[in-house]
Amino acid sequence: MAKLYFYYSSMNAGKSTSLLQSSYNYKERGMNTLILAPHFDDRYGVGRVTSRIGLEARATSFDKADNLFDIVSACCNEDPLHCVLVDEAQFLTKDQVFQLGQVTDDLEIPVLAYGIRTDFQGEPFEGSQYLLAWADNLNELKAICHCGRKATMVIRLDENGNAVTEGSQVEIGGNDRYVSMCRKHFNENFYREKVQQTQKARIARIVQAATSA
Ligand SMILES: [Zn+2]
Repeated sequence: MAKLYFYYSSMNAGKSTSLLQSSYNYKERGMNTLILAPHFDDRYGVGRVTSRIGLEARATSFDKADNLFDIVSACCNEDPLHCVLVDEAQFLTKDQVFQLGQVTDDLEIPVLAYGIRTDFQGEPFEGSQYLLAWADNLNELKAICHCGRKATMVIRLDENGNAVTEGSQVEIGGNDRYVSMCRKHFNENFYREKVQQTQKARIARIVQAATSA
């Protein structure tokens, strides 16, 4: 019986490396894999999965409007598939996670999805939320916080090294960087910054009211 697997972690745990290794293991046995990756720019159809340690492979890219069951079915008609692997699975929609379930159940192809569990505000990504709910098999890949604990959270830092507390879930371009942290250090950085921002805004309102009176 084919299964839907979800490999989740914070950033820099080696998700793409693990994906590429799994794909390689199938191919080494003469089996055929399909790597799917969400795309954020106009290079439609040709994507790449790259890992920090230098491995990379071609991927089929898709966006939020695409039906993944239809894509996999069409690819299967060309050449039978033995495994489907999904990079950056946190960006899947709820419908697309459902469609991966259909690939597993109706086409009987195992699906291995790799994604980040929560965003820089500690909120679950849509894709990860439904993969955690619906996958047959959950596996955690471990990243390490600067303190040595397991890093389960991701923080976004601005150019001054302060935690970013607001903004869109996905930042394209920009100079912000992302760091994996344990929950304790996420809370210390994110909420300290959030309290400071709230206090600054309150004081600004009070000053504005006082000076405009
Ligand atoms: Zn820590």
